[in-house]
Amino acid sequence: MALFGTNGVRGIANEYVNPELAINLARSLGTYMSSKGTVAIGCDTRISGQMLKSAAIAGALSSGLNVIDVGTVPTPSIQYYVRDHADAGIVITASHNPREYNGIKFIAGDGSEFSRDGEKDIEKIYYSGKYAIASWEKTGSFRIDPGVNEYYIRNIIKSVNAEAIRSRRFKIVADTGCGAGSLTLPFLLRELGCQVLTLEAQPDGTFPWRNPEPLPEALTELTNLVKMTGADLGAAHDGDADRIVFVDENGQFINDEVLLAMMAKYMVEHEKGPLVTPVSSSQRMADVARDAGVELYWTAVGSINVARKMMEVNAVFGGEGNGGLIFPKHQYCRDGAMACAKVLEILAGGKKLSELAKSVPQYFNAKTKIPSKNTQTTMEIVKQEASGTGYMLDTTDGVKIWYEDGWVLIRPSGTEPIFRVFAEAKNQERAEELMQEGLDLVLKADKLSTLK
Ligand code: MG
Repeated sequence: MALFGTNGVRGIANEYVNPELAINLARSLGTYMSSKGTVAIGCDTRISGQMLKSAAIAGALSSGLNVIDVGTVPTPSIQYYVRDHADAGIVITASHNPREYNGIKFIAGDGSEFSRDGEKDIEKIYYSGKYAIASWEKTGSFRIDPGVNEYYIRNIIKSVNAEAIRSRRFKIVADTGCGAGSLTLPFLLRELGCQVLTLEAQPDGTFPWRNPEPLPEALTELTNLVKMTGADLGAAHDGDADRIVFVDENGQFINDEVLLAMMAKYMVEHEKGPLVTPVSSSQRMADVARDAGVELYWTAVGSINVARKMMEVNAVFGGEGNGGLIFPKHQYCRDGAMACAKVLEILAGGKKLSELAKSVPQYFNAKTKIPSKNTQTTMEIVKQEASGTGYMLDTTDGVKIWYEDGWVLIRPSGTEPIFRVFAEAKNQERAEELMQEGLDLVLKADKLSTLK
């Protein structure tokens, strides 16, 4: 069984994701690192966080690694710290998953997410059960660093035009959803001279008010508060604050794809250079790249793929259409608080958030999923059938068919026997049509696959 999903190891806390798993995964990391070096270990606000973190600490020490306990931290905060102060990191988080979940995720020495190959090596060690166990005098050293979030905040402030932001004295509603961002976003905003109104900013792993996933329907209180107080914007994190979404001054949710394109546009206006985004992202990114005369690279879905490609091509910006934005001059990972500071830097230019959102092209999406008996064979047949259509294809991840006036992406799920079909066009009707074409293609291929 594959241990690692798209975002580390995830499952129900104290069932699948239990202390034994944490201790043995940390031992596997120690073995992988030949019992040398320092690992920073932190957790988000989930109830099982301290339990799993303690287990991971014990496992790492037992394998001979030195450990720095960084406490409760957003994922990008520990990533930034690892880049500067450790050889690897472990973060106990289930990001946007519901409250009963938790997870274990590794961070590479440069602060980016662990590579897929690295995860596979760890997995091999884990399943072999052959861990490096340090002799009594060589178990690792331990210390606590309570200043990790402060360090992170300080460095975000250095990465934006803080003076311009401070001069505007923005009024902001920050909904941190009781997650790890509660420990950073309100304080970052204070340092940026904002009038901060907090919502759900008490760390609480029961997530009493909303799910850690900041979907528009979960943000009615944020929207209401923005309208009621006449704030310049509202911001909401997911559980581990690597992602952020916004509502404008009218309380309108900013579509994540619009946010991504809006930010890309701003970034390439200031520095010409490549953009990187997954194949699932909107055509808006292609429009931004074309207008600015810069290269756009499409990658497989998953922020790690985006980050690695960004390193390779020296991109100026990249990200996913889910509020996961990557600013390479700051660090090569999704960073919600950094994205918020950058949005404020754009707003300091004088435009309102609603106006900025309107400055990128409008597209419409349609998506669905469909069960498949044999995703692998079906995918192969879909590819063959699609190449017969004469349209431009992208097979970076699944099949993306580019029509003259839109596209459809057909991808097998990594975890379930289903296909996801996602389409985009200039109007809703056409998007639905393209989605249907994709769906028909899967149905046909699935039928053929059973004949094979
Ligand atoms: Mg997250």
